[in-house]
Amino acid sequence: MNHSEKSKFILSKLNELFPNPQIELNFSDTFTCLVAVMLSAQCTDVVVNTVTHKLFNIAKTPQNIIDLGEDRLKSIILPCGFFNVKSKHIVDTARIILEKHGGQVPSTFAELEALPGVGHKTASVIMGQCFNTPAFPVDTHIARLANRWDLEKSRNVRKIEDSLKKLFPVDAWKSLHVQLILYGRKFCPAKKHVVENCPICLKFSENI
Ligand code: SF4
Repeated sequence: MNHSEKSKFILSKLNELFPNPQIELNFSDTFTCLVAVMLSAQCTDVVVNTVTHKLFNIAKTPQNIIDLGEDRLKSIILPCGFFNVKSKHIVDTARIILEKHGGQVPSTFAELEALPGVGHKTASVIMGQCFNTPAFPVDTHIARLANRWDLEKSRNVRKIEDSLKKLFPVDAWKSLHVQLILYGRKFCPAKKHVVENCPICLKFSENI
């Protein structure tokens, strides 16, 4: 199978397996989405949702976060890991949003990526989820799948992102990002994988 045939098969299989993919993080607006995504680095969505359930009851706006302060924020987000740096980044980001962006989360990649602790992947999630801008965030699951499916053999996530954007139609990117993460979690662990149980690699192995 060439790359084009593979990408068509992947898309149809993922649509069949995950027909209504939704991001698993809970949030109610763009700022709470940004905070949830920042907390999700090196942490599961389940833990983030437990933490944000508590946090957003107390603080859900940039001003609330500043009023809460770094130390109290740290104690709340502790289960997410890296709480020192995450707390500092979230408070600094809240301050910049208030001082530079009139209290609104900015809506360009450049402005988002200028915020403390916001990299290209986080910015891509916000652009896709909150601003309906075509984006294809690549996390470890997606990078692993792109390599194992031989769509892009690289460790460089920006290179993987560029290749996936060329292979899949732009109107599929938003749902595909979520579908690939769900597929990766369900079928494609980092260490142990079973080709016979895996609908996509099984098909590819039949067609070699
Ligand atoms: S067989 Fe499944 S689990 Fe293994 S590499 Fe392929 S997609 Fe991933």
